[in-house]
Amino acid sequence: MNDIYMDNNATTQVDPEIVTAILPYFTEQFGNPSSLHSFGNKVGFALKKARKSVQELLGAEHDSEIVFTSCGSESDSTAIMSALKAQPERKEIITTVVEHPAVLTLCDYLATEGYTVHKLTVDGKGRLDLDEYAKLLSDKVAVVSVMWANNETGTIFPVEKMAEMADEAGVLFHTDAVQAVGKIPMNLQDTSIHMLSLSGHKLHAPKGVGVLYLKRGTRFRPLLRGGHQERGRRAGTENTTGIIGLGVACDLAQKYMEYENTLVSKMRDRLQEGILAQVPHSFVTGDVNNRLPNTLNIAFEYIEGEAILLLMNKVGIAASSGSACTSGSLEPSHVMKAMGIPYTAAHGTVRFSLSRYNTMEEVERVIAEVPTIVAQLRKLSPYWGANGPIENPEQAFAPVYA
Ligand code: PLP
Repeated sequence: MNDIYMDNNATTQVDPEIVTAILPYFTEQFGNPSSLHSFGNKVGFALKKARKSVQELLGAEHDSEIVFTSCGSESDSTAIMSALKAQPERKEIITTVVEHPAVLTLCDYLATEGYTVHKLTVDGKGRLDLDEYAKLLSDKVAVVSVMWANNETGTIFPVEKMAEMADEAGVLFHTDAVQAVGKIPMNLQDTSIHMLSLSGHKLHAPKGVGVLYLKRGTRFRPLLRGGHQERGRRAGTENTTGIIGLGVACDLAQKYMEYENTLVSKMRDRLQEGILAQVPHSFVTGDVNNRLPNTLNIAFEYIEGEAILLLMNKVGIAASSGSACTSGSLEPSHVMKAMGIPYTAAHGTVRFSLSRYNTMEEVERVIAEVPTIVAQLRKLSPYWGANGPIENPEQAFAPVYA
């Protein structure tokens, strides 16, 4: 039996069509696009085509708004640092408590450099409070950075509305759309979003390529200075195979968008229903009514997510958990903490993230395996007695996180 991969928010399989499309660019078409000879020209032409494909998927106004980078993290850093460098008089940043570390770690560093970082909080379902946001917008704010969709729960944020509010207040708006691009439709030319990050390896392109979308007219300062590549906005010889692969990935994402929103979400919903029906004391985290079509995050109370993953891995199922095992102590994810998920559940979260490569047969196999694994682990759990959870587990054991 084949292994089942349900960790597509971590990374995706490169589409075989993309592999075929990029192979010649490793061998025959290996030129440097900046060169003036035919070797360079051919690759330059392919990059132009890829830029157009990205523009179309994003619904951008012009292909010059697309800047190729090495990954989502680089795009995030470039956007935020650019806003700060372009407006040195503005010393405040607005972001959220549930961003990816690509944004949060940078913001935490910037806080040590004298910037004021406002982190918007979320409610129990991971939703933002736009009144809290409106109060923070001012001419002191250099940039707002809010993810389009959360990588752990799939919760979608109202970034178009938030960008409009920022624009009205004269504030630059960046969105980390690494998890959203290719999964939900976008038409950036009709929005006030000034900057957007995406990452190739989340939409079936190779690793090592990303994009920063820069709306025309947005003030900009490069992060990487050097050669004139990307119109001087990102120095460094282009990752030609990665970029060409990303172009094809964008064409395919457009083709499969409908599929993603119907069949992939149907598989995800069946998985959710099948597991919840059989596993007591489990629930979905995040906003189930406003979620990426491929993502399902379930909290299995009274057990550890890592233990579930290990046992699932033994039977050939790959998923992920939010907590990170650092220096021997298991910390629940910052996203679960931010939503106020009790620690007895926050430790036991598992994220299943599907793609167009999954099948309903795989979903049924996972539904058949997970309840047995959870029951097996609960037998070993200090929070679980002969007849179910012990009383007041919160008082019986000290919370692990501060
Ligand atoms: N932002 C989000 C929301 C992500 O999920 C990720 C990767 O998981 C990143 C940024 C970082 O992207 P990359 O791995 O391309 O740097």
